Amino acid sequence: MSDSPIWHPFTQHGLGEPIPRVVRGDGAALWTDDGRRIVDAISSWWVTTHGHNHPRIAAAIASQAQTLDQIIFAGWTHEPAETLAAGLRAILPEALTRVFFSDSGSTSVEVALKMALGYWRNRGEDRHRILVLEHGYHGDTIGAMSVGARGVFNRAYAPLLFDVGTIPFPVEGREQASYDALDAACRAGAAAFIVEPLVLGAGGMMMYPPAVLAEMAAICRMHGVLFIADEVMTGWGRTGTLTACEQAGVVPDILCLSKGLTGGAIPLAVTMASEAIYQAHHGPDRATMFFHSSSYTANPVACAAANANLAIWREEPVVERIALLAQRQAERLARLARHPRVTAARRIGTIAALDLGGAEGYLSPIVPHLTARFRDAGVLLRPLGNTLYVMPPYCIGADDLDLVYAVLEAACDDA
Ligand code: PMP
Repeated sequence: MSDSPIWHPFTQHGLGEPIPRVVRGDGAALWTDDGRRIVDAISSWWVTTHGHNHPRIAAAIASQAQTLDQIIFAGWTHEPAETLAAGLRAILPEALTRVFFSDSGSTSVEVALKMALGYWRNRGEDRHRILVLEHGYHGDTIGAMSVGARGVFNRAYAPLLFDVGTIPFPVEGREQASYDALDAACRAGAAAFIVEPLVLGAGGMMMYPPAVLAEMAAICRMHGVLFIADEVMTGWGRTGTLTACEQAGVVPDILCLSKGLTGGAIPLAVTMASEAIYQAHHGPDRATMFFHSSSYTANPVACAAANANLAIWREEPVVERIALLAQRQAERLARLARHPRVTAARRIGTIAALDLGGAEGYLSPIVPHLTARFRDAGVLLRPLGNTLYVMPPYCIGADDLDLVYAVLEAACDDA
Protein backbone atom coordinates (compact mmCIF):
# COMPACT_ATOMS: atom_id res chain seq x y z
CA MET A 1 0.00 0.00 0.00
CA SER A 2 1.25 3.46 -0.86
CA ASP A 3 2.17 5.82 2.01
CA SER A 4 0.93 8.83 0.13
CA PRO A 5 -2.46 10.30 1.08
CA ILE A 6 -2.84 11.53 -2.49
CA TRP A 7 -5.69 10.11 -4.56
CA HIS A 8 -4.65 10.56 -8.19
CA PRO A 9 -7.09 11.15 -11.10
CA PHE A 10 -7.83 8.33 -13.54
CA THR A 11 -5.48 6.10 -11.53
CA GLN A 12 -6.25 2.67 -10.12
CA HIS A 13 -4.06 2.69 -7.03
CA GLY A 14 -4.89 -0.97 -6.46
CA LEU A 15 -2.61 -1.94 -9.35
CA GLY A 16 0.34 -0.76 -7.28
CA GLU A 17 1.93 1.00 -10.24
CA PRO A 18 4.85 3.24 -9.31
CA ILE A 19 4.00 6.94 -9.49
CA PRO A 20 7.12 8.83 -10.57
CA ARG A 21 7.83 12.10 -8.80
CA VAL A 22 8.64 14.86 -11.28
CA VAL A 23 10.89 17.65 -10.07
CA ARG A 24 11.59 19.79 -13.13
CA GLY A 25 10.47 20.50 -16.66
CA ASP A 26 12.16 22.18 -19.61
CA GLY A 27 10.80 22.28 -23.16
CA ALA A 28 9.53 18.81 -24.05
CA ALA A 29 11.45 17.15 -21.21
CA LEU A 30 10.64 16.32 -17.61
CA TRP A 31 13.05 15.07 -14.94
CA THR A 32 12.17 12.71 -12.10
CA ASP A 33 13.63 12.84 -8.60
CA ASP A 34 15.86 9.87 -9.46
CA GLY A 35 17.42 11.87 -12.29
CA ARG A 36 15.61 10.29 -15.25
CA ARG A 37 14.78 12.38 -18.29
CA ILE A 38 11.26 11.77 -19.63
CA VAL A 39 10.02 13.02 -23.02
CA ASP A 40 6.54 14.50 -22.60
CA ALA A 41 4.85 13.09 -25.71
CA ILE A 42 1.31 14.08 -24.62
CA SER A 43 2.01 17.64 -23.48
CA SER A 44 0.99 16.70 -19.92
CA TRP A 45 -2.66 16.03 -20.85
CA TRP A 46 -2.60 18.20 -23.96
CA VAL A 47 -1.92 21.50 -22.21
CA THR A 48 1.77 22.33 -22.79
CA THR A 49 2.05 24.04 -26.17
CA HIS A 50 5.34 26.00 -26.22
CA GLY A 51 7.15 23.65 -23.83
CA HIS A 52 7.44 23.35 -20.06
CA ASN A 53 8.62 26.40 -18.13
CA HIS A 54 8.66 28.83 -21.02
CA PRO A 55 10.70 31.73 -19.57
CA ARG A 56 8.26 34.44 -20.66
CA ILE A 57 5.29 32.70 -19.08
CA ALA A 58 7.24 31.92 -15.91
CA ALA A 59 8.36 35.56 -15.65
CA ALA A 60 4.82 36.85 -16.18
CA ILE A 61 3.51 34.60 -13.42
CA ALA A 62 6.27 35.67 -11.01
CA SER A 63 5.77 39.33 -11.69
CA GLN A 64 1.97 39.27 -11.44
CA ALA A 65 2.11 37.22 -8.23
CA GLN A 66 4.02 40.11 -6.64
CA THR A 67 1.60 42.78 -7.86
CA LEU A 68 -1.97 41.49 -7.53
CA ASP A 69 -2.58 37.84 -6.78
CA GLN A 70 -6.35 37.65 -6.67
CA ILE A 71 -9.43 39.87 -6.74
CA ILE A 72 -13.12 39.02 -6.82
CA PHE A 73 -14.29 39.37 -10.43
CA ALA A 74 -17.99 40.04 -9.81
CA GLY A 75 -18.28 43.80 -10.16
CA TRP A 76 -14.47 44.35 -10.17
CA THR A 77 -11.87 44.17 -12.89
CA HIS A 78 -8.11 44.26 -13.45
CA GLU A 79 -5.59 45.00 -16.15
CA PRO A 80 -4.43 41.42 -16.94
CA ALA A 81 -8.03 40.35 -17.64
CA GLU A 82 -8.75 43.47 -19.72
CA THR A 83 -5.57 42.95 -21.75
CA LEU A 84 -6.35 39.28 -22.24
CA ALA A 85 -9.93 39.89 -23.35
CA ALA A 86 -8.71 42.46 -25.88
CA GLY A 87 -5.96 40.10 -27.03
CA LEU A 88 -8.41 37.26 -27.57
CA ARG A 89 -10.80 39.55 -29.43
CA ALA A 90 -7.94 40.54 -31.73
CA ILE A 91 -7.06 36.98 -32.81
CA LEU A 92 -10.45 35.26 -32.76
CA PRO A 93 -13.49 35.79 -35.01
CA GLU A 94 -14.99 39.23 -34.71
CA ALA A 95 -18.46 37.85 -34.01
CA LEU A 96 -17.25 36.45 -30.67
CA THR A 97 -17.53 39.75 -28.87
CA ARG A 98 -17.71 38.65 -25.23
CA VAL A 99 -15.24 36.82 -22.99
CA PHE A 100 -16.33 34.94 -19.86
CA PHE A 101 -13.59 33.52 -17.63
CA SER A 102 -13.46 30.28 -15.69
CA ASP A 103 -10.85 27.79 -14.52
CA SER A 104 -10.82 24.61 -16.58
CA GLY A 105 -12.05 23.01 -19.77
CA SER A 106 -14.95 21.42 -17.92
CA THR A 107 -16.07 24.70 -16.41
CA SER A 108 -15.80 26.44 -19.79
CA VAL A 109 -18.23 23.82 -21.11
CA GLU A 110 -20.61 24.21 -18.14
CA VAL A 111 -20.56 27.95 -18.80
CA ALA A 112 -21.30 27.39 -22.50
CA LEU A 113 -24.28 25.17 -21.73
CA LYS A 114 -25.63 27.65 -19.17
CA MET A 115 -25.17 30.56 -21.61
CA ALA A 116 -27.13 28.65 -24.25
CA LEU A 117 -30.02 27.88 -21.92
CA GLY A 118 -29.98 31.39 -20.47
CA TYR A 119 -30.14 32.81 -23.99
CA TRP A 120 -33.30 30.90 -24.86
CA ARG A 121 -34.98 31.46 -21.52
CA ASN A 122 -34.30 35.20 -21.51
CA ARG A 123 -35.73 35.38 -25.02
CA GLY A 124 -38.87 33.64 -23.78
CA GLU A 125 -38.39 30.47 -25.82
CA ASP A 126 -38.55 27.06 -24.22
CA ARG A 127 -35.50 25.42 -25.77
CA HIS A 128 -33.31 23.35 -23.53
CA ARG A 129 -32.35 20.17 -25.38
CA ILE A 130 -28.63 19.83 -26.04
CA LEU A 131 -27.38 17.92 -29.08
CA VAL A 132 -24.02 16.18 -28.96
CA LEU A 133 -21.75 14.21 -31.24
CA GLU A 134 -21.36 10.48 -30.62
CA HIS A 135 -18.05 9.58 -28.87
CA GLY A 136 -17.65 13.18 -27.64
CA TYR A 137 -15.85 14.19 -24.46
CA HIS A 138 -16.23 17.56 -22.76
CA GLY A 139 -14.97 17.07 -19.21
CA ASP A 140 -15.77 15.35 -15.94
CA THR A 141 -18.16 17.66 -14.12
CA ILE A 142 -21.82 16.57 -14.17
CA GLY A 143 -22.95 18.82 -17.03
CA ALA A 144 -19.82 18.14 -19.07
CA MET A 145 -20.25 14.40 -18.53
CA SER A 146 -23.90 14.68 -19.56
CA VAL A 147 -22.91 16.02 -22.99
CA GLY A 148 -20.14 13.44 -23.37
CA ALA A 149 -20.26 9.81 -24.40
CA ARG A 150 -21.66 7.40 -21.82
CA GLY A 151 -19.40 4.54 -20.83
CA VAL A 152 -17.04 3.22 -18.24
CA PHE A 153 -15.91 6.77 -17.33
CA ASN A 154 -19.32 7.75 -16.02
CA ARG A 155 -21.42 4.61 -15.54
CA ALA A 156 -21.70 5.13 -11.77
CA TYR A 157 -22.96 8.67 -12.24
CA ALA A 158 -25.47 7.94 -15.01
CA PRO A 159 -28.49 8.67 -12.77
CA LEU A 160 -27.25 12.25 -12.37
CA LEU A 161 -26.67 12.93 -16.07
CA PHE A 162 -29.25 14.79 -18.14
CA ASP A 163 -30.69 13.49 -21.38
CA VAL A 164 -29.21 14.73 -24.67
CA GLY A 165 -29.74 14.07 -28.38
CA THR A 166 -26.80 12.12 -29.83
CA ILE A 167 -25.83 12.66 -33.47
CA PRO A 168 -23.88 9.77 -35.04
CA PHE A 169 -20.18 10.39 -35.57
CA PRO A 170 -19.64 11.39 -39.24
CA VAL A 171 -17.90 8.23 -40.41
CA GLU A 172 -16.23 8.70 -43.79
CA GLY A 173 -18.69 7.83 -46.55
CA ARG A 174 -21.67 7.96 -44.17
CA GLU A 175 -21.68 11.68 -43.36
CA GLN A 176 -25.19 12.09 -44.73
CA ALA A 177 -26.57 10.00 -41.87
CA SER A 178 -25.07 12.49 -39.40
CA TYR A 179 -26.44 15.48 -41.33
CA ASP A 180 -29.93 13.92 -41.50
CA ALA A 181 -29.93 13.10 -37.79
CA LEU A 182 -28.76 16.62 -36.93
CA ASP A 183 -31.36 18.18 -39.19
CA ALA A 184 -34.14 16.09 -37.63
CA ALA A 185 -32.97 16.83 -34.08
CA CYS A 186 -32.79 20.56 -34.85
CA ARG A 187 -36.31 20.49 -36.31
CA ALA A 188 -37.60 18.73 -33.19
CA GLY A 189 -36.30 21.72 -31.17
CA ALA A 190 -32.91 22.09 -29.58
CA ALA A 191 -31.06 24.80 -27.68
CA ALA A 192 -27.56 24.02 -28.90
CA PHE A 193 -25.23 21.52 -30.53
CA ILE A 194 -21.83 21.03 -28.86
CA VAL A 195 -18.91 19.54 -30.78
CA GLU A 196 -15.20 19.00 -30.62
CA PRO A 197 -14.17 20.46 -34.00
CA LEU A 198 -12.18 18.10 -36.31
CA VAL A 199 -10.88 15.79 -33.54
CA LEU A 200 -12.75 13.93 -30.81
CA GLY A 201 -9.93 13.67 -28.29
CA ALA A 202 -10.71 11.41 -25.33
CA GLY A 203 -13.15 9.46 -27.52
CA GLY A 204 -10.06 8.06 -29.29
CA MET A 205 -8.57 10.82 -31.45
CA MET A 206 -11.34 10.34 -34.01
CA MET A 207 -10.90 12.80 -36.87
CA TYR A 208 -13.28 14.21 -39.46
CA PRO A 209 -12.70 16.79 -42.20
CA PRO A 210 -13.41 20.54 -42.12
CA ALA A 211 -16.15 20.26 -44.77
CA VAL A 212 -18.16 18.03 -42.40
CA LEU A 213 -17.76 20.52 -39.57
CA ALA A 214 -18.89 23.32 -41.91
CA GLU A 215 -21.97 21.36 -42.98
CA MET A 216 -22.96 20.57 -39.39
CA ALA A 217 -22.57 24.23 -38.42
CA ALA A 218 -24.67 25.26 -41.44
CA ILE A 219 -27.50 22.91 -40.43
CA CYS A 220 -27.54 24.41 -36.93
CA ARG A 221 -27.54 27.94 -38.32
CA MET A 222 -30.45 27.11 -40.63
CA HIS A 223 -32.54 26.08 -37.62
CA GLY A 224 -31.29 28.78 -35.24
CA VAL A 225 -29.72 26.14 -32.98
CA LEU A 226 -26.67 27.54 -31.19
CA PHE A 227 -23.36 26.01 -32.27
CA ILE A 228 -20.90 25.46 -29.41
CA ALA A 229 -17.30 24.67 -30.36
CA ASP A 230 -15.37 22.95 -27.57
CA GLU A 231 -11.81 23.79 -28.61
CA VAL A 232 -10.37 22.95 -25.20
CA MET A 233 -8.09 20.38 -26.84
CA THR A 234 -8.05 21.55 -30.47
CA GLY A 235 -7.36 25.23 -29.74
CA TRP A 236 -3.98 26.96 -29.68
CA GLY A 237 -2.55 25.40 -32.82
CA ARG A 238 -3.03 21.72 -32.08
CA THR A 239 -4.72 20.99 -35.41
CA GLY A 240 -2.34 23.26 -37.35
CA THR A 241 -4.36 26.47 -37.07
CA LEU A 242 -5.09 28.62 -34.02
CA THR A 243 -8.56 27.04 -33.81
CA ALA A 244 -9.86 24.00 -35.67
CA CYS A 245 -13.02 25.92 -36.65
CA GLU A 246 -10.83 28.24 -38.70
CA GLN A 247 -10.08 25.40 -41.17
CA ALA A 248 -13.80 24.99 -41.82
CA GLY A 249 -14.55 28.72 -41.98
CA VAL A 250 -16.93 28.15 -39.06
CA VAL A 251 -17.65 30.88 -36.51
CA PRO A 252 -19.39 29.28 -33.54
CA ASP A 253 -21.92 31.09 -31.36
CA ILE A 254 -19.96 29.96 -28.32
CA LEU A 255 -16.30 28.94 -28.14
CA CYS A 256 -14.61 27.11 -25.23
CA LEU A 257 -10.84 27.49 -24.76
CA SER A 258 -8.55 26.33 -21.95
CA LYS A 259 -5.40 24.11 -21.80
CA GLY A 260 -3.01 26.04 -24.13
CA LEU A 261 -4.61 29.38 -23.18
CA THR A 262 -1.81 29.86 -20.64
CA GLY A 263 0.65 27.82 -22.68
CA GLY A 264 -0.31 25.05 -20.27
CA ALA A 265 1.35 26.64 -17.26
CA ILE A 266 -1.58 27.43 -14.96
CA PRO A 267 -5.33 26.77 -15.00
CA LEU A 268 -7.57 29.20 -16.89
CA ALA A 269 -10.42 28.96 -19.35
CA VAL A 270 -12.59 31.27 -21.38
CA THR A 271 -16.00 30.85 -22.93
CA MET A 272 -16.43 33.36 -25.75
CA ALA A 273 -19.92 34.29 -26.85
CA SER A 274 -21.64 36.15 -29.65
CA GLU A 275 -23.18 39.55 -28.99
CA ALA A 276 -26.70 38.07 -29.26
CA ILE A 277 -26.01 35.69 -26.38
CA TYR A 278 -24.58 38.49 -24.25
CA GLN A 279 -27.46 40.84 -25.10
CA ALA A 280 -30.03 38.20 -24.11
CA HIS A 281 -28.62 38.48 -20.57
CA HIS A 282 -28.19 42.27 -20.66
CA GLY A 283 -30.67 44.83 -19.31
CA PRO A 284 -31.98 46.50 -16.17
CA ASP A 285 -33.41 43.29 -14.72
CA ARG A 286 -31.05 41.53 -12.31
CA ALA A 287 -32.97 38.29 -12.86
CA THR A 288 -31.54 37.95 -16.38
CA MET A 289 -27.86 38.34 -15.52
CA PHE A 290 -25.56 35.39 -16.11
CA PHE A 291 -25.60 33.36 -12.92
CA HIS A 292 -22.19 31.75 -12.94
CA SER A 293 -18.97 32.34 -11.06
CA SER A 294 -16.16 30.66 -9.25
CA SER A 295 -13.85 32.09 -6.61
CA TYR A 296 -10.91 32.32 -8.98
CA THR A 297 -12.73 33.65 -12.05
CA ALA A 298 -10.12 35.54 -14.14
CA ASN A 299 -7.39 35.10 -11.55
CA PRO A 300 -4.82 37.83 -12.36
CA VAL A 301 -1.81 35.48 -12.22
CA ALA A 302 -3.45 33.07 -14.67
CA CYS A 303 -4.45 35.98 -16.93
CA ALA A 304 -0.85 37.25 -16.89
CA ALA A 305 0.32 33.79 -18.00
CA ALA A 306 -2.24 33.86 -20.81
CA ASN A 307 -1.08 37.32 -21.87
CA ALA A 308 2.47 35.98 -22.07
CA ASN A 309 1.13 33.12 -24.20
CA LEU A 310 -0.49 35.61 -26.57
CA ALA A 311 2.77 37.57 -26.76
CA ILE A 312 4.61 34.36 -27.65
CA TRP A 313 2.08 33.73 -30.43
CA ARG A 314 2.57 37.27 -31.71
CA GLU A 315 6.35 37.47 -31.43
CA GLU A 316 7.81 33.96 -31.72
CA PRO A 317 7.67 31.67 -34.78
CA VAL A 318 4.89 29.53 -33.25
CA VAL A 319 3.18 28.89 -36.57
CA GLU A 320 6.47 27.70 -38.08
CA ARG A 321 7.14 25.42 -35.10
CA ILE A 322 3.69 23.90 -35.48
CA ALA A 323 4.22 23.34 -39.22
CA LEU A 324 7.61 21.71 -38.57
CA LEU A 325 6.19 19.41 -35.89
CA ALA A 326 3.25 18.52 -38.15
CA GLN A 327 5.67 17.55 -40.92
CA ARG A 328 7.88 15.53 -38.57
CA GLN A 329 4.86 13.74 -37.15
CA ALA A 330 3.63 12.97 -40.68
CA GLU A 331 6.97 11.41 -41.70
CA ARG A 332 7.29 9.23 -38.63
CA LEU A 333 3.66 8.20 -38.63
CA ALA A 334 3.90 7.18 -42.30
CA ARG A 335 6.69 4.75 -41.40
CA LEU A 336 4.90 3.34 -38.37
CA ALA A 337 1.66 3.00 -40.34
CA ARG A 338 3.30 0.17 -42.33
CA HIS A 339 3.59 -1.93 -39.17
CA PRO A 340 1.34 -5.00 -39.48
CA ARG A 341 -0.34 -4.38 -36.11
CA VAL A 342 -1.17 -0.75 -36.85
CA THR A 343 -4.51 0.27 -38.28
CA ALA A 344 -6.13 3.63 -38.94
CA ALA A 345 -3.00 5.79 -38.73
CA ARG A 346 -4.28 9.36 -38.82
CA ARG A 347 -3.00 12.86 -38.23
CA ILE A 348 -4.13 16.44 -38.12
CA GLY A 349 -1.65 19.21 -37.43
CA THR A 350 0.51 18.23 -34.46
CA ILE A 351 -1.68 15.28 -33.41
CA ALA A 352 -0.78 11.79 -34.66
CA ALA A 353 -2.79 8.69 -33.73
CA LEU A 354 -3.09 5.03 -34.62
CA ASP A 355 -5.02 1.99 -33.48
CA LEU A 356 -3.32 -1.15 -32.30
CA GLY A 357 -4.98 -4.43 -33.18
CA GLY A 358 -6.02 -6.69 -30.31
CA ALA A 359 -6.40 -4.17 -27.52
CA GLU A 360 -10.04 -3.13 -27.61
CA GLY A 361 -11.62 -0.85 -25.03
CA TYR A 362 -10.42 1.73 -22.52
CA LEU A 363 -10.00 -0.97 -19.86
CA SER A 364 -7.95 -3.26 -22.09
CA PRO A 365 -5.36 -4.99 -19.86
CA ILE A 366 -2.59 -4.07 -22.25
CA VAL A 367 -3.04 -0.36 -21.47
CA PRO A 368 -1.33 -0.35 -18.04
CA HIS A 369 1.31 -2.64 -19.48
CA LEU A 370 1.98 -0.23 -22.35
CA THR A 371 1.95 2.84 -20.11
CA ALA A 372 4.54 1.24 -17.82
CA ARG A 373 6.65 0.19 -20.75
CA PHE A 374 6.64 3.73 -22.17
CA ARG A 375 7.45 5.19 -18.77
CA ASP A 376 10.37 2.80 -18.30
CA ALA A 377 11.67 3.80 -21.73
CA GLY A 378 11.64 7.48 -20.72
CA VAL A 379 8.55 8.53 -22.66
CA LEU A 380 5.29 9.90 -21.28
CA LEU A 381 2.49 8.39 -23.39
CA ARG A 382 -1.00 7.42 -22.22
CA PRO A 383 -2.93 5.15 -24.59
CA LEU A 384 -6.68 5.66 -24.91
CA GLY A 385 -7.67 1.99 -25.02
CA ASN A 386 -6.24 0.63 -28.26
CA THR A 387 -5.56 4.12 -29.57
CA LEU A 388 -1.98 5.31 -29.27
CA TYR A 389 -1.35 8.97 -29.96
CA VAL A 390 1.48 11.49 -29.92
CA MET A 391 0.73 15.13 -29.07
CA PRO A 392 3.96 16.75 -27.90
CA PRO A 393 4.85 20.37 -27.11
CA TYR A 394 5.63 22.28 -30.31
CA CYS A 395 9.30 22.68 -29.35
CA ILE A 396 10.07 18.95 -29.28
CA GLY A 397 13.32 18.13 -31.09
CA ALA A 398 13.70 15.57 -33.88
CA ASP A 399 15.75 13.25 -31.65
CA ASP A 400 13.15 13.19 -28.91
CA LEU A 401 10.41 12.55 -31.45
CA ASP A 402 12.51 9.70 -32.91
CA LEU A 403 12.75 8.20 -29.42
CA VAL A 404 8.96 8.43 -28.99
CA TYR A 405 8.36 6.61 -32.29
CA ALA A 406 11.05 4.00 -31.58
CA VAL A 407 9.35 3.22 -28.28
CA LEU A 408 5.96 3.08 -30.01
CA GLU A 409 7.29 0.75 -32.67
CA ALA A 410 8.80 -1.59 -30.11
CA ALA A 411 5.47 -1.66 -28.28
CA CYS A 412 3.67 -2.52 -31.53
CA ASP A 413 6.16 -5.35 -32.13
CA ASP A 414 5.36 -6.88 -28.76
CA ALA A 415 1.66 -6.11 -28.52
N1 PMP B 1 -13.21 19.43 -23.53
C1 PMP B 1 -12.31 18.73 -24.21
C2 PMP B 1 -12.44 18.61 -25.69
C3 PMP B 1 -11.24 18.11 -23.55
O1 PMP B 1 -10.35 17.41 -24.25
C4 PMP B 1 -11.12 18.27 -22.15
C5 PMP B 1 -9.99 17.66 -21.35
N2 PMP B 1 -9.20 16.74 -21.93
C6 PMP B 1 -12.10 19.00 -21.48
C7 PMP B 1 -13.12 19.57 -22.20
C8 PMP B 1 -12.05 19.16 -19.99
O2 PMP B 1 -11.02 19.99 -19.63
P1 PMP B 1 -10.46 19.99 -18.13
O3 PMP B 1 -9.82 18.66 -17.93
O4 PMP B 1 -9.50 21.12 -18.09
O5 PMP B 1 -11.63 20.20 -17.24
